[in-house]
Amino acid sequence: MLEEYTKPALKPISVDEPTRGLMPARTDVPFSLPKSTLAFSTTPMTVFPTPRGTLTPDRPLADLTWLRVGGPAKALFQPADHDDLAAFLRDLDPAIPVFPMGVGSNLIVRDGGLDAVVIRMGRGFNGISFDGTRVICGPAALDAHVARKAADQGLDLTFLRTIPGAIGGAVRMNAGCYGSYIADVFVEATAITRSGETVTLTADDLNFAYRSSDLPDGMVITEVTLEAPKGDPETLHQRMTDQLAKRDATQPTKDRTAGSTFRNPAGFSSTGRDDDTHELKAWKVIDEAGLRGHTLGGAQMSEKHPNFLINTGGATAAELEDLGELVRKRVLKHSGIELQWEVLRVGKR
Ligand SMILES: Cc1cc2nc3c(=O)[nH]c(=O)nc-3n(C[C@H](O)[C@H](O)[C@H](O)COP(=O)(O)OP(=O)(O)OC[C@H]3O[C@@H](n4cnc5c(N)ncnc54)[C@H](O)[C@@H]3O)c2cc1C
Repeated sequence: MLEEYTKPALKPISVDEPTRGLMPARTDVPFSLPKSTLAFSTTPMTVFPTPRGTLTPDRPLADLTWLRVGGPAKALFQPADHDDLAAFLRDLDPAIPVFPMGVGSNLIVRDGGLDAVVIRMGRGFNGISFDGTRVICGPAALDAHVARKAADQGLDLTFLRTIPGAIGGAVRMNAGCYGSYIADVFVEATAITRSGETVTLTADDLNFAYRSSDLPDGMVITEVTLEAPKGDPETLHQRMTDQLAKRDATQPTKDRTAGSTFRNPAGFSSTGRDDDTHELKAWKVIDEAGLRGHTLGGAQMSEKHPNFLINTGGATAAELEDLGELVRKRVLKHSGIELQWEVLRVGKR
C-alpha cells in the first residue's frame, strides 16, 4: 500500500468553488519551509505537526480513487498507528479540515482538489481478528478480505465479498448488497475525533440508514467490531463465488467507476427495510429516459448497467459530475423522479 503514495497522478484543474462539507483551510501555502522562516516571512503558512507516519503536501488524489479523477489534497497523511493519528489530530490547527479516505470506491474528488488533510490508513490499520462470532477489523481491511477470512472461520459476512471498499468506508456508507447491510452486523467502532480524543461509537450514535450514517465530518474510524451469523465455510465460499459471477455478468466491474451513482428512488429499496419494495431501480429510470451509454466528454453512463458512471479514459471530475447532473435533470423530466447521488462528491471544482 505504501508505494501507492509515490505514484504520479493526474494534473488538477483549479476552478473556484467552495469545498463541500469542509471548512476553509487557513492558507494554501506549502508547509515545507523550516519553522524558523515563519518569524520573518510576510506570507502566512501552514504548520503541520510532525507525525511518525508519512505526511505528503499537495498530494494528487486521482490515483487513490476508483474513478481516477481529482486534484490534490492540501496534504496526505498516512499515520503509523492509532496513537500517531490521535496525536496528529490533537496538534493539528483546528481550522484545517481533515477528510478520512478509504480506497476511494465511492468518491468523486473534484478537479480543484481538497483543501484538507486527507487521512489514508494502510498497514497498521488493516488487521482482521476473531473473538467467537465477533470479527474485529481495522478500517483499512478490504471488505472482500474480511468476507473471505470470516468464511474460513465459518462466519457469514458474505455480503461484503463483492463490495470493493474497505471497512471504514463500509461503516460510513452503511454498505450492503444482496439484502444485507453493515447495520445488520455492526457492534461498535472505535474512532478518533477531530481534536484527537478516542471514542467508542454504537449503532445508535451512527444512526444507520440506506447507504448513510451520521458519522460526524472529520471523525476517523480506527477499528470496527462486527457480529457475524454462523455458516458452513464451504457453503459460504460457494455463495461468494456465485455472487462474484453475478456481479461480473451484470455490472461493469472492470471499468473505472464508483459503483451505483444514484440511490434507488425513495420507497424502492432505499431504506433496506423488509417492507420496502425493489420494483423501481435507479438504473431502470435512467434506462427509460434513454440515457444508457450516454456520454459527456470522457464520462459515460455504462451500457452494461446504466446507473454506473464510468471514466472511459480521460474524463475530468467535472465531466463525471456534470453527466450525473444531466441524468438527474432528464430523469426528472421523463418520469418525475428526483434521483439522489449515492457517490460522494468532495472538493473544489
Ligand atoms: C464496482 C463497484 C461496486 C460497488 N458496489 C457496492 C455495493 O454493492 N454496495 C455498496 O454499499 N456500495 C457499493 N459500492 C460503493 C463503495 O464500494 C462503498 O460505498 C464502500 O463502502 C466505500 O468504501 P471506501 O473504502 O472505498 O470508502 P471511500 O470511497 O474512500 O470513502 C467513502 C466515505 O467513507 C468515509 N471513510 C472512509 N474510511 C473512513 C474511516 N476510516 N473513518 C471515517 N470515514 C471513513 C470517507 O470519508 C467518505 O465519506 C461499489 C463501488 C464500486 C466501484
